[in-house]
Amino acid sequence: MTSTLLQWPRSLPCAMGIAFSLDAFVDHPGEFYANQYVYGRTSKNALREHRLPQCLNLGDGVITALLRRPDSRLDLWVQDGKVAIRRDGRELPLDVTLPAMPPYFGRQLSNGMRTDDFIAVAGEVTPGFFLYPDCFYFPDGVPCSFCSLRHTRKTSGKEMADSFDIQSVKEAAAMWMEASPPIISLTTGTFPNGDAGALYIARIVEGIRAGSGPDIPIEAYAKPQLFPARG
Ligand code: SF4
Repeated sequence: MTSTLLQWPRSLPCAMGIAFSLDAFVDHPGEFYANQYVYGRTSKNALREHRLPQCLNLGDGVITALLRRPDSRLDLWVQDGKVAIRRDGRELPLDVTLPAMPPYFGRQLSNGMRTDDFIAVAGEVTPGFFLYPDCFYFPDGVPCSFCSLRHTRKTSGKEMADSFDIQSVKEAAAMWMEASPPIISLTTGTFPNGDAGALYIARIVEGIRAGSGPDIPIEAYAKPQLFPARG
């Protein structure tokens, strides 16, 4: 039986992943948001120089993560700036376009860091920071089952910021206001001391408001320390 989900072409790229060469976008003309180094990595073996789009726009406001899966029945056809998705060799009726490059992407902060490494939560309209990379659960507890950050921070994400001085926070916050982000997203590993963690996050929120204005909406995801340390 074919499910309703799989009959709907826009659901397929996310459900099945897409097969394509890692070099498919290296010589792609024009600018687009090429960044799979946010939070974790969606495609295996991708390097920054492969310029994989952060996501694909599929028309009618539908956006999908770009998941490279070499065994998928879907494949990506990329040529002369045009991108199409095919299923068993037949083009799907989708108007595929690449995400626009956010104004803060590919720049440098005055502390020398690349903005892409500092603004590590980098959805096109939800920029923000990943604040505390040494999550309590990595060495002392059981990491959340969906979490890939422990490995990511040691491999593809090893250049991401692990400390956040307020001057750089303000600078980054002013940069993302050159676009019009609807919401700022903060996420963090679990601090070993919850009160100290709350104060740390509050200081970052102050820094963001200093750079983005007092009315900027900010969401923060933080997990309390639920289990005692091992040992
Ligand atoms: S709290 Fe966050 S960083 Fe820590 S294990 Fe869970 S998802 Fe990963």
